[in-house]
Amino acid sequence: MRRGLAAGNWKMNGTGASLSEIEALKAAHPDPSVEILICPPATLVERMSAVAKGSAVAVGGQDCHAAEAGAHTGDISAAMLTDAGATHVILGHSERRADHGETDANVRAKTEAALMGGLVAVVCLGESLDEREGGKTLDVIGTQLAGSLPDAITGANTVIAYEPIWAIGTGKIPTIEQIAEVHDFIRAELVKRYGAEGEAIRVLYGGSVKPSNAAEIFAVENVDGALVGGASLTAQDFSPIITALENA
Ligand code: PEP
Repeated sequence: MRRGLAAGNWKMNGTGASLSEIEALKAAHPDPSVEILICPPATLVERMSAVAKGSAVAVGGQDCHAAEAGAHTGDISAAMLTDAGATHVILGHSERRADHGETDANVRAKTEAALMGGLVAVVCLGESLDEREGGKTLDVIGTQLAGSLPDAITGANTVIAYEPIWAIGTGKIPTIEQIAEVHDFIRAELVKRYGAEGEAIRVLYGGSVKPSNAAEIFAVENVDGALVGGASLTAQDFSPIITALENA
């Protein structure tokens, strides 16, 4: 019942030359059975949206401010992203939580702004290695989930990405049992808070997803796709991940 989503986070990577990767993705996936999303740096949102227009590739931002407009040098609003052609925005990525001190309350406010602006919010959660080793993973995820999400969200406007911080960009992934445990927990919490709508909200896994491990991750119940960093930068790496999700 939930449509798969293969989402790419380009982080602070990519210039105009990288748009050829979108041309390649379009050619490789003209009519995919899953959704495809690429979130480039803000400088590329408008140009990427133009290249992706009419294709199955959606374009998103990597952050937005909680305010509609104003004196926030260097920031970008939800309305600016939609104006540039974005349909989605990643919020609360662990790199933003770490580098910019974003709290759950900040992420919730940004998510509210994104939804008001008509964007689909991809809200990220994840534990540190210390928290994992200290047996606190579910407590941490439960707290982030409760604090980062607004009260009125739907499967159409919000996606959750579970991204263990220690798995991002490291080549390490949790065991399949650990992924299943956290995704089952998130699903149960979503249903507890949002009722039937909680069944419709997609939960992505993120952290060192590669063509070589995508199929086993997508076979896990309650994994509805992936948020992919490094392996989303080229169509050569991202395309087999999309195909693995289509085949899951
Ligand atoms: C990410 O940053 O969202 C991510 C999952 O990165 P990577 O796939 O490179 O681990």
